[in-house]
Amino acid sequence: MESTWLIQILTFLLLTVNLNFINALPEILRIGGLFEVGDDPMEMAFKSAVDRINSDGKLIPRSRLLAQVEKVEKSDSFSASKKACGLFEQGIAAIFGPQSVETSTHIQSTCDQLHIPHMETRLDFRSVAANHSINLHPHPKVFGEAIRDLIRMKNWKNFAILYQENEALVRLEEILKDEVLREKKMVVRQFETDEYRTIFKEVNKLNIKNLIVDVPRENIHEVLRHAQQVDMLSEYHDYIFTSLDLQTVDLEDFQYAGTNISSFCLIDRSSTDFKEIIREWQSSVPVTRTNWLEEDPFISRASLLQNFTTEVALMYDSVKLLAKALHDLDRSKTINMNALSCENEEPWQYGITLTNYMRMITVRGLTGDIKFDRNGLRTDVRLKLIELTNEGLKEVGEWTSEKRVQFIGNYSKTMEEILKATLKNKTLVVTTFPGRPYTMFVEDYEKKGLTGNDRFEGYCIDLMNEIAKRLQFKYVIRLVEDRAYGRRNEKGEWNGMIRELIDGKADIAVADLTITYERESAVDFTMPFMNLGIGILFRKPKKEPPRLFSFMSPLAIEVWIYLLTAFLGVTLFLFVIARFSPYEWINPHPCIKTPEDLENNFTMKNTLWFTIGCLMQQGCDVMPRALSTRVLAASWWFFILILVSSYTANLAAFLTVERMVNPIESVEDLAKQTKIHYGCLMSGSTQAFFKNSNFSTYARMWSFMESTRPSVFVESNDKGVERVKKGDYAYLMESTSIEYIVERECDLYQVGGLLDSKGYGIATPPDSPYRGIISDTILALQEKGILQAIKEKWWSQKKCGPKDGTQKAAGAASELGLANVGGVFVVLAIGSVCAVIICIFEFIWKMKQIPRGERDHIFVELMRELKHVICCYGSTRPVRRTGMDDMGSQIIMQTPGNGIPGMPIPGYGFPHPIHAHGDFIPAFGMGKEDYS
Ligand code: ASP
Repeated sequence: MESTWLIQILTFLLLTVNLNFINALPEILRIGGLFEVGDDPMEMAFKSAVDRINSDGKLIPRSRLLAQVEKVEKSDSFSASKKACGLFEQGIAAIFGPQSVETSTHIQSTCDQLHIPHMETRLDFRSVAANHSINLHPHPKVFGEAIRDLIRMKNWKNFAILYQENEALVRLEEILKDEVLREKKMVVRQFETDEYRTIFKEVNKLNIKNLIVDVPRENIHEVLRHAQQVDMLSEYHDYIFTSLDLQTVDLEDFQYAGTNISSFCLIDRSSTDFKEIIREWQSSVPVTRTNWLEEDPFISRASLLQNFTTEVALMYDSVKLLAKALHDLDRSKTINMNALSCENEEPWQYGITLTNYMRMITVRGLTGDIKFDRNGLRTDVRLKLIELTNEGLKEVGEWTSEKRVQFIGNYSKTMEEILKATLKNKTLVVTTFPGRPYTMFVEDYEKKGLTGNDRFEGYCIDLMNEIAKRLQFKYVIRLVEDRAYGRRNEKGEWNGMIRELIDGKADIAVADLTITYERESAVDFTMPFMNLGIGILFRKPKKEPPRLFSFMSPLAIEVWIYLLTAFLGVTLFLFVIARFSPYEWINPHPCIKTPEDLENNFTMKNTLWFTIGCLMQQGCDVMPRALSTRVLAASWWFFILILVSSYTANLAAFLTVERMVNPIESVEDLAKQTKIHYGCLMSGSTQAFFKNSNFSTYARMWSFMESTRPSVFVESNDKGVERVKKGDYAYLMESTSIEYIVERECDLYQVGGLLDSKGYGIATPPDSPYRGIISDTILALQEKGILQAIKEKWWSQKKCGPKDGTQKAAGAASELGLANVGGVFVVLAIGSVCAVIICIFEFIWKMKQIPRGERDHIFVELMRELKHVICCYGSTRPVRRTGMDDMGSQIIMQTPGNGIPGMPIPGYGFPHPIHAHGDFIPAFGMGKEDYS
């Protein structure tokens, strides 16, 4: 193969270099044509092509082509090769035809022996062309790829391949082996007889509406007729014909059904050659009006279009290619048309050059650019995508191996207009599910005499009216028969509205139908018209009976405990500090200038009375005098001030709020318990959500719901709401419906947030042509605020006032914890520490005023005092007198120790005399010397 390719390149270079030197082509160039009996269009095309080349005069100016035609019997290879030999003996440059596989192969081998180019226009499955074959028909793989790309682009959910001839499977190999398409539901059936209805009925039962049909072009009309008879030709059906000659079939009977019928076409109808040829043909056939060739409305469709097949166009192109090659050779080589004999098998010496040259050049023909690859197969093929519309077949796009399927600029606009036109004046069957406030019966509609669509009202009815008004179609509402939204069972069968759409019983489903991935695989959804999520509908909790000790509620229990501890602590502290502080020891009889005893007011009883009096905000007649005790008292007052104010404020909140017993506050709470049952709508997306969830909480909830008896699933939202109202049942419902219900049922409310987020959409049968335009309309309604207005209309009745008010208030009046009031405890603690420090300073200060000789070391005095306090030696003590002060008066000191005259000092057994002259009296029964 590589060497052939090299020879071709060398030939091309040689010829290009020698251009314009030699003009040696004979005046008459014979070319042979072998046509089967009955293949008149091919023969006509051949002759007409030769005439065109000769009359044009530009392609081969100095020579004329002479068509030598022979008729052969189909499949009679022997007579065909005899006739071919006869042509070879006349000296021909190439041979065209025949079309049938058997005879053509036979002729091919003779051509290969004699090196005569064999010009072919038939579909050939070989992946490498024979040596002297120039086949202009693209390889079947090319068409397979084009159809595969088109199906991929259409994104069909399922499809059937219906074929008649066995070779069709080779043609469709690219589709059958494509990985993406194999994942779709694909059904392959063969039409074994001309009774196509049987297969169509079978496909209809399988609910498949997308079909690839591979039948000879002569049978296309009959196939479509049979499809129409068994209801397989509606606007929901989509047909792709593999034949390249769909344009030659009269499709007028089917063009108003709205069925999408398309195919690829190789002929470039926009080329001038094509238009001219059609005009030439026009003069030789009876004239009637056509709707496809807009350029010339007076061309006979019956005779012309039915015969102007791809093979005919290829015949034109092959003659043109040969002529161009001969002309180029004419400028570079001497070519003689030798008479050749099939017997002595001596080849034509220019054959190889001519064949190779034809494979090297590019010629623009009726079927686009004619180019060959290194295997001798047609390359860079451009296929036109044609589609049947109300106005007949229209070119809507193009396929090339690089760019795949590309629609022409205004395709979608045109299609949209065509669809809108089809939809106008149509009556669509709308399936819906009755439920508040989407679709409801008008109150007393029977009494009011309402019938048909007028019986219904609600959000979905208004939405439908808006869409129908914009798209100008009529509709009839039907309630879904099995009263289900749509759920797939284990066998993969759907119920509810989804089933009705698949079965073709309804054209659209307009309800609170949730868009889910599973449903999307069976039907099509428009843009969502409402967004929502799953929520929990529950009955408001009962009021809690007032508790006996509810006055304790404003503070948390630990705060009460801390408060008690603080109270006792402060009391003790104050008592101790007051003992220590010399300024708290006072003269009990102010009239007596030199008292014998000093008294401390902060006895244990008094101190307790003081702290409790302050705590109750009643005050007390015992007041601190020393700085230390005052600091402590001030801290205590501050503590009480804050705590009591906080308590009072919170108590007020508690008294105004109704406390609720709220057992469920989130979905987790619901999942954790089994006392309160919970469930959802049967055969709906909510049920499917729990069933398919991998999230542990929801999976647990699903197994609970599934196993609970009696069943927790309900047939409609209304029944679910009734059950919630009875109590001990939570209903998992979609948030928009909850919103509607809680506005009207004041004892119900939504617990927690949403479990997911999704939307409602209008569903159409799979691959419905109307989905796009309905989606656009929904978008327009959304942008104009009409959807919002409709929602307001049906939801707005705000009977129950603000939601969750009680819940929030109850939450706001929560008890105060340590975190809330901890600060005041800290302040109190700081105050106490300051009091201790000040008290020590006071003690030291007073001690310092006693001459060193009359007292012990301060630390010893301190310890003695501590002991005195700990042992609770009473609140009166003798005055301790020291030397005279500057003013000549005696300094009266408190004496450490008990000091009650006549009373034995605990632990020591004898009283201490008090010396007014200021002698140091060892208070604890020890001699002075013991301290020095
Ligand atoms: N709107 C839901 C559906 O489409 C109903 C539900 O399951 O709550 O299935």
